[in-house]
Amino acid sequence: MVIRTHKQTILRKKTLIRDSFKCVKCGYESLIEKSGIRHYDKFELVADHIIPLTLSGIDELENMQTLCLKCNKEKNSKDQHNIAKFKRDKKNGS
Ligand SMILES: [Zn+2]
Repeated sequence: MVIRTHKQTILRKKTLIRDSFKCVKCGYESLIEKSGIRHYDKFELVADHIIPLTLSGIDELENMQTLCLKCNKEKNSKDQHNIAKFKRDKKNGS
């Protein structure tokens, strides 16, 4: 069961601030300028678990990275692949 807690909301914010609102993979910066004032469009960036929780990653800042939607999509498919492999290994192993 996945519940988005207050802790996760804070963690997400901390991740984006630590990475200066930039995608750590491609350097995409989600910056929009409105009437001379710079805003970060937080909807274009996601806080991603480097090691997915499913693969015993932790819900802490050190396991978080800022990704743009494009890089996140790519990483997600890699994660899904690893998770599937992990489940297969678990089934077959020992
Ligand atoms: Zn990116």
